[in-house]
Amino acid sequence: MKEIAIWWIGASGVAVDLLEVVQRRVAGEFGLPVGAHLSAERPEGSLDPRRRQHSSTKILHWLAEHRPAGADRVLAITDADLFIPILTFVFGEAHLKGRAAVVSTARLAGDGLMLPDPARFRARVVTECVHELGHTFGLLHCQSTRCAMARSPGLREVDAKNETLCPACRERYLELATENGENDEQEKHPHSGRR
Ligand SMILES: [Zn+2]
Ligand SMILES: [Zn+2]
Repeated sequence: MKEIAIWWIGASGVAVDLLEVVQRRVAGEFGLPVGAHLSAERPEGSLDPRRRQHSSTKILHWLAEHRPAGADRVLAITDADLFIPILTFVFGEAHLKGRAAVVSTARLAGDGLMLPDPARFRARVVTECVHELGHTFGLLHCQSTRCAMARSPGLREVDAKNETLCPACRERYLELATENGENDEQEKHPHSGRR
């Protein structure tokens, strides 16, 4: 059974409630089991001292090497501010058709002046987690501004999105999953491996 491992790699204590919401929604969206990986190990060498931000690309490489046993994919969530060289910041990054994705909560809480309501914050985190995992399954950016796979350079774009894939992306996801054999076991043994 393919499984997605969710791993909190932040500096502060683990936000159990948040991870539970992400776990549930991601499992529902992709139709795959999602488990929490509770290791206290954290990526090394990702901090850029000059920018005081962490390289999402370096974190992805680290995650790919430290993927939990039995997990087909790893989704890391962190409170560290992430960047790629050409951008001021990113909400997350993923290996396209790969195994690793990372999402940062640092910029999703707001502009630092005021915390958004918790429900909105959770919705943003879930949306970006679905987005980055979507990339690992081979989904590209979507033109529909309501789709979780829409590009989101800022919070305005994140808030315009649903937490879910649009019908076209959902169809593409199912096509890719079949091509890659992601859902083989589910199709052949609909009741095996379920918890
Ligand atoms: Zn993207
Ligand atoms: Zn879409």
